[in-house]
Amino acid sequence: MFISEKAPAKINLTLDALYKRADGYHELEMVMTSVDLADRIDLLSIPSSAILLESSSGLVPQDEKNLAYMAANLLRKKMGIRRGVAIRIDKKVPVAAGLAGGSSDAAATLRGLNRLWGLGLSLRELAEIGSEIGSDVPYCVYGNTALAKGRGERLQVLPTPPACWVVLAKPTQGVSTADVFGALKVDKVKRRPKTSQMIDALYRQDYGAITRLMGNVLEPITMHMEPDVRKLKEKMYQFGADGVLMSGSGPTVFALVDRESRAKRMVNSLKGFCPQVFAVRMLGNLNKTKQNVIVQA
Ligand code: ATP
Repeated sequence: MFISEKAPAKINLTLDALYKRADGYHELEMVMTSVDLADRIDLLSIPSSAILLESSSGLVPQDEKNLAYMAANLLRKKMGIRRGVAIRIDKKVPVAAGLAGGSSDAAATLRGLNRLWGLGLSLRELAEIGSEIGSDVPYCVYGNTALAKGRGERLQVLPTPPACWVVLAKPTQGVSTADVFGALKVDKVKRRPKTSQMIDALYRQDYGAITRLMGNVLEPITMHMEPDVRKLKEKMYQFGADGVLMSGSGPTVFALVDRESRAKRMVNSLKGFCPQVFAVRMLGNLNKTKQNVIVQA
């Protein structure tokens, strides 16, 4: 039997770190939403009890360190499954980019194996298992738009933003999430996102307010480590973005634009400055066209 699952990238409309907890993690508050740039996870039943893994990208581990492998292994242990599986990852989401590509692969593997092995687990149960793999995995199990608190495991479903285009630009150098959080001093943060106002704006479907309220406390830190983040942000505004923000711990920067033609023009203008540029739809607005990724540089 064979099953395919989409593993979409996420962007942060907001990311706030409230304080550092006794366990060393930051208490976070993040509004996250999925975009139509996705890896594809193929899962194939095999006669042996092995977990085999293969990825189209050499930038991710091809063994038990891959988050999709870890997800399959953990699910098998928890559910007492002896069956094996061959996992193939068609990688489209940039790696170490702040887009939760690895977490989304793990979440898609959990959803897919739940079907392949007929386990009948709820999304809540899959998210709980996923939280042992990584902080963003519970959100990625549900996808769409949500407020995530704690390390990211406490979730509240939110309305999807109004139809718009998202231009994503990933500078060449990746950044380590651990390094960025390591450099964060929560008591020195100058500007925090107004999370509750962002939630109101989503309920009102107020696109203008959403673009104005976007904010990420990690952005100044990553900008310091990777100056291309600032340059890309400036260029995106110059090329007509309605709002621009770095996603997660970066270094990917995204722009929201209301029209496809403007998104396409922005991608063409950015190509010379950045090796990886995409214009995609916000997820939740998928039915209007089959061609959801319009440009992939
Ligand atoms: P996060 O913000 O959650 O750290 P990210 O989007 O910045 O995520 P990922 O693309 O998830 O970064 O990669 C983070 C690390 O995880 C990389 O060092 C990568 O080698 C490793 N990794 C393991 N499995 C995967 C996978 N399936 N896809 C991407 N990266 C993976």
